[in-house]
Amino acid sequence: MRIALITGANKGIGLATAGRLARDGVHVIVAARKVEAAEEVAGELAAEGLSVGSVQLDVTDPASVSAAAAEVAERHGQLDVLVNNAGILPEATNQDPKEVLDLAMFEQTYATNVLGPVAVTEAFLPLLRKSAEGRIVNVSSAMGSLAHQTDPSSPWHSMVVPAYQSSKAALNAITIVLSKALADTAIKVTSVCPGWVQTDLAPGNMEQAPLTPDEAAEVIARAANLSTDEPTGTFVDASGPVSW
Ligand code: NAP
Repeated sequence: MRIALITGANKGIGLATAGRLARDGVHVIVAARKVEAAEEVAGELAAEGLSVGSVQLDVTDPASVSAAAAEVAERHGQLDVLVNNAGILPEATNQDPKEVLDLAMFEQTYATNVLGPVAVTEAFLPLLRKSAEGRIVNVSSAMGSLAHQTDPSSPWHSMVVPAYQSSKAALNAITIVLSKALADTAIKVTSVCPGWVQTDLAPGNMEQAPLTPDEAAEVIARAANLSTDEPTGTFVDASGPVSW
C-alpha cells in the first residue's frame, strides 16, 4: 500500500485530498499543526473503513517537522507521496496595510508557504528516496505564475497580493530545481494549482469560488499518482499545463 502525507490536512483542500487519496487505496497520514485536529480527521476517515494515520506537524516549527519525519520513519520506513499543502494568505485579512510591500506579511507568508515546504521536503526526502515511485506535490497557485501576472488578458493580472503571489512563485522555482536535482531518482515533483476553491484561505472572499475542495483534490490526486512515464517538474491545473 502506498503511503502519503499531506500537510494542513485538517481542513479545506488538504482535508479533501486526504479523503480522496485514502479512497484511492493509499494509506494517508493526516498532518496538522494541532494534533487533536489531525486525530479527529483520521478518526472520521478510519470510521469509513479507510487506512489512515495522523501526525502533529507545524511546517514552521523545525522540531515538529523533524519529529514528524522520525515518527513516519519508525511507523513505515518510507514515504511514497508528500503533498505540501499547508499555506496561508494573511494579506487577505490585513486590515491596515501601511505600504504595498509589508515586511511582516512577507515574513509570515514565506515562513509557511516557502520555508515550510522546504523544511518538510528536506526532512522527508530520505523516506521518499526509499519509494519505488516517490511523488512530491507542491500546492501552488496560478496567482504565483509570472506569465499570468504579466499578461493583461489573464484573469489574475489585476490581483495584487505581493507576499502570497511571490511565495507561490518561489514555490514554483523550488519545484523546478528539485525536479532537476532529483531527475536521476524515482521521485517526481509537480506544482499544482487547485483553482479557486471554497475554503477559509481568504475569509469573506471565497464564497464566490466556483470549486469545492473535493473537486480541487482531483488535480492533486492526479499529480500524486503520476505514472513513471509522465514528466517531472511541471506546473498543472485541472485543464493541463499552467504557464510558469
Ligand atoms: P485553508 O482551508 O485555510 O487551509 C489551510 C491549511 O493549512 C489548514 O489546514 C491550516 O491549518 C494549514 N496550515 C497553515 N499554517 C500551517 C502551519 N504552520 N503548519 C501546518 N499547517 C498549517 O486553505 P486552502 O484553500 O485549503 O489552502 C490549501 C493550499 O491551497 C494552500 O497552499 C493555498 O495557498 C492553496 N491554494 C488555495 C486556493 C483556493 O482558492 N482556496 C487557490 C490556490 C491555491 P490550521 O487549521 O491549523 O490553520
